[in-house]
Amino acid sequence: LTYTADPARYDNATFRRTGRSGLDLPTFSFGLWQKFGADYAYQTQREIILHAFDLGITHFDNADRYGPPHRAAQHNFGRVLAKDLAPYRDELILSTKAGNPIGPSPYLKGGSRKSLLASLDHSLRDLGTDYVDIFYHHSPDESTPLEETVSGLVSAVRSGKALYVGISNYLPDRAHAIAEALAAEGVPLLIHQPRYSIFDRRIEQNGLLDAAERDGFGVIVYSPLAQGLLTDKYLEEIPEGARAVNSTFLNPDVIDDTYRRRARELNKLAESRGQSLAQLALQWVLRRPQVTSALIGASSTWQLDHNVAAVDFPEFADDELALIDEHGVH
Ligand code: NDP
Repeated sequence: LTYTADPARYDNATFRRTGRSGLDLPTFSFGLWQKFGADYAYQTQREIILHAFDLGITHFDNADRYGPPHRAAQHNFGRVLAKDLAPYRDELILSTKAGNPIGPSPYLKGGSRKSLLASLDHSLRDLGTDYVDIFYHHSPDESTPLEETVSGLVSAVRSGKALYVGISNYLPDRAHAIAEALAAEGVPLLIHQPRYSIFDRRIEQNGLLDAAERDGFGVIVYSPLAQGLLTDKYLEEIPEGARAVNSTFLNPDVIDDTYRRRARELNKLAESRGQSLAQLALQWVLRRPQVTSALIGASSTWQLDHNVAAVDFPEFADDELALIDEHGVH
């Protein structure tokens, strides 16, 4: 079947400016970390990706590591790009990352120039595109001089293989240091990708949000639903097909009585506001002006429709925020 994008896709879509750059990102971005490997039906993946684009989600986040096996998610996205989304390439923000281990070779991990640039070339081949919009260093690598990582990122931009660069999982000090080093090369740090949710508030406490404001980079937050824990799906039991059953990244042991007590309280608050827990959790991360985009995953088009509606609810009152603090903090 030939795909034509919904002509109304921008009518209700909202965008936010990324730090002090000129780039707008959609309020919700879509990540292909889980359920876009070789273990899930390609047609379902294609349907979800195209549905996201029809909802005005212009940003798709990938990494060389995503699968299984590693690189499979980019390969699958590349199939959709070739078949369906190629006419819309100018409207897409595609990102990829390098640096988290994808094999035993020393050149398949870390922050060396070799690792970064070899990974980027391989990702471009898998995605079937000449350039990515954002190229990330996936995690800090203390064993490599920062200057060398910077030189890899700068080369990615100067060679035209990436339009912007980002970092992920960096603590504020190192983020500041790399932002300065990149700025000195005339390649500003566009964005940082940390984890942030009601259940994980480290970036509020460790000063990363302040650093973002000071250094002028945007923040795109991953796992804002804590991989599904901040939805109503695990309140009673663990449903079949859910991530806590079929992914090694979400340990079902965390779904214990303490978790359920917290999640039920948060769910009650969401209900009193006429929204779901998922919608409350997404609205909560987006309340921060430093947060450019909430980077979500989804295993169905229903989840996407449901989640993007999170922007349609009234702002939180102080007493509601206090309740979220009370039940959300471990
Ligand atoms: P989320 O916290 O948004 O979790 C998404 C998962 O929650 C879905 O796949 C689905 O899982 C479940 N879910 C979503 N909506 C609902 C709903 N309404 N009701 C019930 N269940 C729902 O984000 P992810 O953890 O998936 O991370 C998002 C992206 O962030 C990744 O794809 C990746 O791009 C990026 N990321 C980056 C990292 C980094 O180191 N830079 C690390 C981790 C992620 P299911 O239905 O299968 O249970």
